[in-house]
Amino acid sequence: MTLDKSFVPIEVIFSSRAHAAICAETMEHHPLETGGILLGHFHQHRWQVIEAIDPGLGARCTSTTFEYDHAYVNHLARKLASQYRLPLRLIGLWHRHPNSFDNFSNVDNITNRRFAAMSIHGALSCLVNLDPDFRLTAYHVPKDLSYQHLPAVVGDSLIDSSLFTPICAADISTKRLSDQNLVLDLQQLFIRLPRAHSALQFRLASALDPLLQQLDVQKRWLYGLRACGHCLQLALVEQRGPCRELWELALCPRGLITALRDDGLRLNGTQFSDHLLEVNHGC
Ligand SMILES: [Zn+2]
Repeated sequence: MTLDKSFVPIEVIFSSRAHAAICAETMEHHPLETGGILLGHFHQHRWQVIEAIDPGLGARCTSTTFEYDHAYVNHLARKLASQYRLPLRLIGLWHRHPNSFDNFSNVDNITNRRFAAMSIHGALSCLVNLDPDFRLTAYHVPKDLSYQHLPAVVGDSLIDSSLFTPICAADISTKRLSDQNLVLDLQQLFIRLPRAHSALQFRLASALDPLLQQLDVQKRWLYGLRACGHCLQLALVEQRGPCRELWELALCPRGLITALRDDGLRLNGTQFSDHLLEVNHGC
């Protein structure tokens, strides 16, 4: 496999907090193995590690192995990731090895391969040894596991500030929250239908134009659209109610608009237009 040079990092930068978390976790479990996951970004050809998460209250550490408490790690990763304006991503992992053993075991290779498969950038995998002083060795892990040793540095000022900005009270507004809720609602609706990624057929786009204008002026529904060539998928989210509907709008062989709801209800263009304007009498 040929590596895309744009994805090959030149170094790893740890925030002082992430590095401290690794040191503290190593000390706490000495001489047993321990480890954790790393959150941050691949940015400007560098792994930028902003948070390091311990393996959890239910982790099992022995002198040669350790197992994560997955529920704890997943929970904390989600919480920490959302505390930054640019939500952190899972970028890799670290673990301690006994004595001076600083190669990856077969089990490590399997784990590293799994992490590397999660991102086009691959992953970061770090080993910690105490022989006798703390020694961290960082490796870039491409998908083919051709490990590359990377220099590692520590310092908050080295991390791109755009990645390191925590959210603040000014980021919270009910408008923003309702926008986020709408995005989630639309995602949950659209997931129910397969999508054909192709531009809308010109004939269909022209026929639907009056309906789309009507959607823009009515007050009951917020909506999302997905173009699928021969049909337009339309997700409707009631603004002040619980109704959620998913439609596919297409042209019948006679060139007339037909609207099919995902529960099987079929309406012609006029009926669908009336449906959009109905005052809410329940879903
Ligand atoms: Zn290992």
